[in-house]
Amino acid sequence: MNEKINVTDIFGADVFSDSVMRERLPKKVYAEVKRTVETGADMSLATADVVANAMKDWAVERGATHYTHWFQPLTGITAEKHDSFVTAPKNGKTILEFSGKELIKGEPDASSFPSGGLRATFEARGYTAWDCTSPAFLREDATGVILCIPTAFCSYTGEALDKKTPLLRSIEAVGSQALRILKLFGNTTSTRVTPSVGAEQEYFLIDRDKYLQRKDLIYAGRTLFGAAAPKGQELEDHYFGTIRERIGAYMKDLNIELWKLGIPAKTQHNEAAPAQHELAPIYEQANIAVDHNQLVMETMKKVAGRHNMTCLLHEKPFAGVNGSGKHNNWSLTSDDGINMLDPGKTPHENIQFLLVLACIMRGIDIHADLLRQSASNVGNDHRLGANEAPPAIISMFLGVQLEDVVKQLVETGEATSSIRGGKLDTGVHSLPVLAKDATDRNRTSPFAFTGNKFEFRMVGSADSIADPNTTLNAIVAEAFCQAADRLEQAPDFDTAVHDLIKEYMSEHQRIIFNGNGYSDEWVAEAARRGLPNIRSMVDATATLTTDKAVALFEKFGIFTRAELESREEVLYETYAKAINIEALTMIDIATKQIIPAVISYTTELATSMNAVTGACPEADISVQREILMEVSALLSDTKVALSSLKERQTEAASCPEAKTAAFYYKDEVVPAMTALRSPVDRLEMLVDKKYWPMPSYGDLIFEV
Ligand code: ADP
Ligand code: MG
Repeated sequence: MNEKINVTDIFGADVFSDSVMRERLPKKVYAEVKRTVETGADMSLATADVVANAMKDWAVERGATHYTHWFQPLTGITAEKHDSFVTAPKNGKTILEFSGKELIKGEPDASSFPSGGLRATFEARGYTAWDCTSPAFLREDATGVILCIPTAFCSYTGEALDKKTPLLRSIEAVGSQALRILKLFGNTTSTRVTPSVGAEQEYFLIDRDKYLQRKDLIYAGRTLFGAAAPKGQELEDHYFGTIRERIGAYMKDLNIELWKLGIPAKTQHNEAAPAQHELAPIYEQANIAVDHNQLVMETMKKVAGRHNMTCLLHEKPFAGVNGSGKHNNWSLTSDDGINMLDPGKTPHENIQFLLVLACIMRGIDIHADLLRQSASNVGNDHRLGANEAPPAIISMFLGVQLEDVVKQLVETGEATSSIRGGKLDTGVHSLPVLAKDATDRNRTSPFAFTGNKFEFRMVGSADSIADPNTTLNAIVAEAFCQAADRLEQAPDFDTAVHDLIKEYMSEHQRIIFNGNGYSDEWVAEAARRGLPNIRSMVDATATLTTDKAVALFEKFGIFTRAELESREEVLYETYAKAINIEALTMIDIATKQIIPAVISYTTELATSMNAVTGACPEADISVQREILMEVSALLSDTKVALSSLKERQTEAASCPEAKTAAFYYKDEVVPAMTALRSPVDRLEMLVDKKYWPMPSYGDLIFEV
């Protein structure tokens, strides 16, 4: 019944990959493309013409009718406008064409994308520029087959209007500074360093018919009302549990789609909350990983539709059970295969690694606020700091082995030993004796060292991973640059590097925390250490334009001050708009669905009470009366809370300034929403289910 899948045949079948180019392009052209991809050298228009033509032929053979410049505006999702390959007919016939010019540059009429004031609508030119470092691919859906060309998106004056442009700039910055570090240690073979990224993606799947009965899910992507089901995730029976048939069929289809796109989907499992799952691909070069994560999210949603399900990527679709995040695994790899974050077996002797570690400690400590900001979005405010995701405080987990090495260095200036992992003895003779890692895990740390990479665990599930990686690259680039500036001048390198590692580690050891990040004690301890605890997205936004942030980003040409200011503006606007939609959705549901349903129920109850006492005046109707009293009181509370939310929403919507509006939404509208939810959720537990106008939490997450 199960047709066989040949993964090696389908993998990358829809990608205009390096091997396709080698096969289809003249040798000289292929060499020029490779040079551009690897060194950023300019490509001639003649070469672009040849590539475009080969791309078109390849795509058309596979049924493509259109191409699109696929880009990532500040909405955080992707955008596209399709153009067919059709040219003006001659004698009633058309030929299909695609030129180098069309490949390299597009000009979408892009005036409606958020720009934070970088462009006035009357000067709305925006350009998309081919990013040849991320391969073009085919996407097949109801529209047909579309050739998608990854592009950067910028304004007439060259300012970045997207997430890819700064990411590419940051990749160059950290790469060139990392190379300086390698050279300090006598490396003559590496010519390029790039960040590697693997993003583990969490998601929920629910039944589509039920989804369509919930206006909150439709408009806001999360439930705004909903009493907890009798069972939550307390039995921990969903986490890594057997994958049910309906979900398994979905995962199988999803993998096939991803493999065709050249995305190395690797791991799949059920997550902690009922109806929650995870997919992780194998890590790739950062730019490609960011594009691929967008495709993972899009494909997850698309494939869900085929199975009559809906994929929810919101960070907190359901109260009371875990929300979804995205673990961003990050390391630095040279073109000849050196992972700069690999400590080896004896890290205390690995001076290059210790320098890299010291620099990362420094960068993360100095720019903890920016890193926290990079993982902020509207939905993530429900997770960070709650007991399921890392706290809103940035700290680093190093594990027993590295923490010990750092301690030796800080205390004595020398590190003379590394704690070994030893053997794992289960006490069962028939089981193999396993070599233990030198370090255990810490699931409560936002930034954890996991063997040969850092895992940034704060990122929200719906967010683009472009921002976190841009920030991470930037802050590490700065620390590398400062270290290299000093060490390149040092008369005695060995002494200088030793001193610098000790200095950086001593100065920034407060960022290390190996304990329980979910505990209240840590919040107090972090405050004592002076670590920032930025509680919300709105509070985090201003960190983008501090002098410290502007100096960092401008130094490496990643953002100009104007670009940062525009992003700050866009974030305030985004927050205000998202909460406004949530507030209006609550008002709509409460007014048009919940209050009428409760009135119908109380009316039926009252009518039936009259009928009962009419038929039997002595009958005890105290239960009905009690329910009627309780429900009516909550109905009245609902109405009061609804009126209050309406007032706050009206007030917020009239704020002229994005920043003031955002703070008003956070401080006034969000609490008013919580106040409305409370009586409604209690009503849901009292009102006859047949009157309740939408599926319950139990229906949504246990009956998929
Ligand atoms: P863990 O169990 O530590 O989470 P996994 O092997 O499950 O590790 O990997 C999680 C993610 O991290 C995957 O996407 C994986 O490809 C990625 N990853 C592994 N090694 C690296 C590395 N050196 N750099 C970046 N990402 C990596
Ligand atoms: Mg992991």
